[in-house]
Parts: sequence; C-alpha cells; structure tokens
Amino acid sequence: MTSIISNICSKIEQTVFPADCLICSQASQNPYELCQDCEQELPRNRYFCRCCAQPLAAQAHGSLCGACQKRPPTFEQVFAPFLYRRQIQALIRRYKFSDHQPSGRLLETLFMQSLRQQKPPVPAALIAVPLHPQRLKERGFNQAQQLAKALSRQFACPLLQKAVARKGGLPHQADLDKQARLKNLRDAFVLKEHNLPAHIGIVDDVLTTGATANALAKALRRAGVERIQVFVLARTP
Ligand SMILES: [Zn+2]
Ligand SMILES: [Zn+2]
Repeated sequence: MTSIISNICSKIEQTVFPADCLICSQASQNPYELCQDCEQELPRNRYFCRCCAQPLAAQAHGSLCGACQKRPPTFEQVFAPFLYRRQIQALIRRYKFSDHQPSGRLLETLFMQSLRQQKPPVPAALIAVPLHPQRLKERGFNQAQQLAKALSRQFACPLLQKAVARKGGLPHQADLDKQARLKNLRDAFVLKEHNLPAHIGIVDDVLTTGATANALAKALRRAGVERIQVFVLARTP
C-alpha cells in the first residue's frame, strides 16, 4: 500500500515539476530526464555494418564491414542504436559503476524509443550476457539483466534468466590481452538449459569487439539455436 501511494506521489511530482536533465541539469521539457537539446546531441549510430553494427561511412551504410566479411559472426545482427561516446558513455558509466538508477531508467527509455522506431525482428526469448561472478559480487547487479528485463516487457517475450552461466575462476576479460581474451571466452559460458527456442536475442549494455556476444552465440548455436540477434545500447566506434 505504502509503495502504491509513494508511486502515485512520484507520478504527481513528475507532472507538476518536470524533471531536470541528467546531462546538463536544465529543466527537461520531455516526460523523461533529458532535455531536447541534449537529446539532439546524443551520439546515435546512424551508418553501420548490417551484421555487427560497426559504425561505417554514410555511403557504406548497410554493407558488411571488413571484419564480418572475413569472419562472419555466429550472430545474425546487432541492434545498437547509440555509440559508446560522450553522453551515452557517461550515462552508462554512472549507472554501472555508481548504481545511479535514474541514469539506468533514462537509458532504458531511450533504448525502447529506438526499438519502436527501428522495429528489429522480435526473438522468441531473451538471454542477458551473464556478468563474470567476481564482477557481479563487486557491483551487486548485472546491468545487462536489467536492460533485458525492460526489453522482455517491450517485446512481450520471456527472459531466460537461468539459461546460461558464466564460469567462475576464469580471469576477467579486462585483465587480458587480445589473444588471451579469445581463448578465455571460448569456454566462458555454460548452458544450463538445453531446450531453447530457435530464435534468441542476446542482451548486453555495450558491444566492443563483439567477441563476448559471439562466444555466447556459439554456445547457443551448439545447443541448436538457429537465429541469434544481439541487442545492446551502444557500440564502440
Ligand atoms: Zn540537457
Ligand atoms: Zn560487421
């Protein structure tokens, strides 16, 4: 009951006192915490590889990048509406490392808006990239899981929370060089569920090289999943 009342109060508050922009602190005219000027300035991923969403020159939009031509990833397509730069990077970092919930909610709102505009194919189920157990312990939450929950509501498709686990004991990716990372990733994921739908969406916050998403995609493919899409907030340029 108390939570219902506090919910109503916060709704009234939002209507009477529009929120301030999380980026520039000016009053936001939007129903979310981002002013129209800052929204215009967001680093959007406009021209990109049709498979891995790697940013490309405008005239190359929709073609395959060099890396995907050379070695096609196991996943079919990455949906990445933003670039991991400036304001988006700042919001993601604030959410992830300082557990700043308003930043998390704003990122979700922006992500859902992009989905409604771009309408990527809807998978039969979602799987969030599990965090390394050590990182999960430090941070207390998995930002990919939070995003996947929002996505699962939007798509009205289930989020398979326990379908895959990340092996503990392996070193964290950030502590390794490129070769060691790939080797480390090869057996990073353990499938806990083997009766998976044929079309799955992998969810993460940021896609850098795509190696993590691809390692998970390979594990899913080995389990018989036919189509694998990837949904991330942002792509590193
Ligand atoms: Zn602003
Ligand atoms: Zn590509």
